[in-house]
Amino acid sequence: MIDNAPGTHPMGDSLIEVHAYVGLGANLGNPVRQLLAALDALERIPATRVIFSSSLYRSRPMGDIGQPDFINAVAALATRLTPLELLEHLQRIEREQGRVRTAERWGPRRLDLDLLLYGDETIRSARLQVPHPGLCERDFVLCPLNEIAPHLEIAGLGTVADLLATCQRHDVQRVGQPAEMRGRAGDSRPAMDQ
Ligand code: AMP
Repeated sequence: MIDNAPGTHPMGDSLIEVHAYVGLGANLGNPVRQLLAALDALERIPATRVIFSSSLYRSRPMGDIGQPDFINAVAALATRLTPLELLEHLQRIEREQGRVRTAERWGPRRLDLDLLLYGDETIRSARLQVPHPGLCERDFVLCPLNEIAPHLEIAGLGTVADLLATCQRHDVQRVGQPAEMRGRAGDSRPAMDQ
């Protein structure tokens, strides 16, 4: 486990590529376009490749706040960045796509990028918790993750497929693959005016 080790690489060697999984979610500003633009932005993170991306899924919001449905997806990356470097790029992309942080938990958002997994590391620092704490209970994360990595083991808790089988189910529906959605959504630049 890494504890309070900002900026250090868990492998001690920045040339080693690590597989990391990122959860994407949006429910404002044309969420399909937000996610497509975020997938493009993930491709441009230095020292990082997107190896797989899931379909996009539509899910009902958690909590009691009245708000639009979310669009969710998961991307698998191969990266030579440290976990904190990767988190910084995810937060930069959120900012660039117009996210304004509020204290409201589960509130509406243009774009939320979560670092779900970083190799098989367990990280519990003030800025970063990996595996992401919500991962195992959230079917809107487990459904897309199961599509691209059903046999992936999560920190001694079982495989993604096992966790999905026992997870409380809400209303998560597959809406299409990114390539199909690009044709339908037209321009994949984030919509800043909605
Ligand atoms: P949220 O509003 O849900 O996007 O939470 C963002 C905050 O969670 C930021 O302050 C991050 O430093 C922190 N955080 C802790 N662990 C993670 C993680 N695995 N992925 C993304 N943000 C994280």
